[in-house]
Amino acid sequence: MKRYRSLSQIRLDIDEGKVSCSSLVDYYLERIAQNSHLNAFLEIFDEDAKAQAKLVDQKLKDGSAGRLAGMVLAIKDNISYRGHHVSASSKILEGFEAVYTATAVERLIAEDVIIIGRCNCDEFAMGASNENSAYGAVKNADDESRVPGGSSGGSAVAVQADLCLAALGSDTGGSIRQPAAFTGNVGFKPTYGRVSRWGLLAYGSSFDQIGPISRSMEDCALIYEIMAGKDPHDATSSLKEVDSWEYSPEKKYKIGYIKETIEREGIDSELKAHFNEVLDGLKADGHEIEAVSFPYLDYMVPCYYVLTTAEASSNLSRYSGMLYGHRSSEAQDIDTTFIKSRSEGFGEEVKRRIMTGTFVLSADYYDAYYTKAQKVRRVIQNESKALLDKFDFLISPTTPTAAFKLGEKASDPIQMYLADIYTVQAPLAGLPAISIPTGRTKDGLAIGTQVMGNSFEEKKLFNFCKQVLESYENL
Ligand code: GLN
Repeated sequence: MKRYRSLSQIRLDIDEGKVSCSSLVDYYLERIAQNSHLNAFLEIFDEDAKAQAKLVDQKLKDGSAGRLAGMVLAIKDNISYRGHHVSASSKILEGFEAVYTATAVERLIAEDVIIIGRCNCDEFAMGASNENSAYGAVKNADDESRVPGGSSGGSAVAVQADLCLAALGSDTGGSIRQPAAFTGNVGFKPTYGRVSRWGLLAYGSSFDQIGPISRSMEDCALIYEIMAGKDPHDATSSLKEVDSWEYSPEKKYKIGYIKETIEREGIDSELKAHFNEVLDGLKADGHEIEAVSFPYLDYMVPCYYVLTTAEASSNLSRYSGMLYGHRSSEAQDIDTTFIKSRSEGFGEEVKRRIMTGTFVLSADYYDAYYTKAQKVRRVIQNESKALLDKFDFLISPTTPTAAFKLGEKASDPIQMYLADIYTVQAPLAGLPAISIPTGRTKDGLAIGTQVMGNSFEEKKLFNFCKQVLESYENL
């Protein structure tokens, strides 16, 4: 079977009788089996997917099929799907079955998507390489000695290796965009509050958003549009109408880039040269480009890690061994139940973050760290918004390097945290941002470019990204 890049290609072939949902599911199941060494999936929902495919094929014949009929989707293992296991790639949730379905997933199912399985990720979405999973690292399909990025590494590789058409990830500080960049995919984090977090296992609640990883801009926009919108289960979801996007290729935009992002030490020279080429290409296409200064770059990663660890330490306190999840066999009373279950159930990075978060929230240090970081976040929000009042978009490389080697940064948390340098600004400020594939290194590794837009202006963002992608097709 040929490799499809978008749902519209599939729908054309379905209409011509060349494929069916059932044959597509069989194809992807075979691809998943052939590529099991990549470790992208933790579980395949094969029986469910086959049954759903039959149903959707029937609906397509009846003319009653939804907008996602023909789309085979994978979901990250921190998104709940009733009756299916969900573990956030953690031993602490081993064997746990979701008791309800995430609103985002429910809306996709209502439009006849087919869910093929759940994808490996960093434990509780904490990481940038997928090496923090309790179920082993995921390999980058372009070069298996390299990481796929994280934390949605399994979702990104599932799309990269053609194991499904698209996947859902979650993004707190870059976990959709960075793996999308490392695997040559489109990855999108919506405006905070645009997509319901109901059913997403919480990491940093004031940052987390569910979003798509796909091959095409159209699929990204379609999945987003269907998931987005008010959900009474999530008080932080916005009431704003979700408007649908229609492509206008001729529009010209005013684009800013933060000069510190490429002047900073640590950006790989090949990626820097590539980014300059992207800027030249945009100018040649008639867009207006301007360099601006944003002297807060070095504060972003520390600010992000103070706030998200604080939120994580609170969110993860529910995994206590009492009500669900792992309970230590050595638990004897309430204290040993908490201590032993959590010590055995959580991995090293998760423990590091819970301890950091507990520290920054402790009475003696609260003001020095947590309050200070909240103030820094407000400055970053205000200054980012001020730039986006002036420009349509801010553009940057998605990552300072292309996919790094497995093990290369695993023992150095600070190096790993710096992989997020360009991606944390958008969630700190609540803004929407996309990574799109714009090139490859001379070793053939994917390079992503990130475009950040103003709150709730996803439509404009999609339009620009589609224009850019058109000039980089066939990567
Ligand atoms: N790499 C970042 C972190 O470890 C981002 C994770 C995410 O977005 N979930 O927190």
